[in-house]
Amino acid sequence: MTSIEEIKTRLDIVDVVSESVTLKRSGKNYTGFCPFHPNTRTPAFVVWPETGTWRCFGQCNEGGDVFKFVMKREGWDFPEALRAMADRAGVQLRPPSPHEEAQKEEHARLRTLLEEAVAFYRHNLLNTQAGKVALDYLHGRGLADETIEIFELGYAPQGYENTRRHFLDKGYTEGDLLDAGLVSERKSGETYDRFRHRVIFPIRDGRGKIAGFGARAIAPDDMPKYLNSPQSVLFDKSRLLYGLDKARKSIRST
Ligand SMILES: [Zn+2]
Repeated sequence: MTSIEEIKTRLDIVDVVSESVTLKRSGKNYTGFCPFHPNTRTPAFVVWPETGTWRCFGQCNEGGDVFKFVMKREGWDFPEALRAMADRAGVQLRPPSPHEEAQKEEHARLRTLLEEAVAFYRHNLLNTQAGKVALDYLHGRGLADETIEIFELGYAPQGYENTRRHFLDKGYTEGDLLDAGLVSERKSGETYDRFRHRVIFPIRDGRGKIAGFGARAIAPDDMPKYLNSPQSVLFDKSRLLYGLDKARKSIRST
């Protein structure tokens, strides 16, 4: 039996789903309101304990196994879901290969760089003369200081060298900055700041880990109006929603 099969055998999908969906027994199956789309009238969500699967017959028209469910609920990728469910089921996963270890370290390094970038952009917004324009702009749009704090908004200064220079001075390489999506590359191979004179907001995954940035132009004629981090190992655009973790917290606390 593979680890995946063993986890599925040991976990009761009804238990896992029940953490976020009130399920009612209906014959051999369970039904409830789908947690992934607005669903309040007819329960569109079905769980089959025997096969360990679920499906939404409503708007989502989507289903899968317990891994797919927690990936969707938590915003996890498959390795994250696998680790969490293995822990929960008490299944020992085989040790990661040297390649996987190296990849994990690389990802951790990039995340550290991105967290430092969050702090860098915030510093520029809150404590610099240049950031005053951006701060006034945000206040002018009705954002309170508390909101700016909660969403960890920042400011990427005007110019092509600020972010790049700051992080090269800290010992990061141009390759690191490219991988993290903080700089772009000219055909000549030179790199330059991707975000310039923009309000910056961090985009975090389902567990609150930094994945990339969104950036809004301040000057009315700066295009595009919104610019995101490029697709990268950490920033999977298809999976991420803006401020997902924050939104989730605020939903829970209301
Ligand atoms: Zn649904």
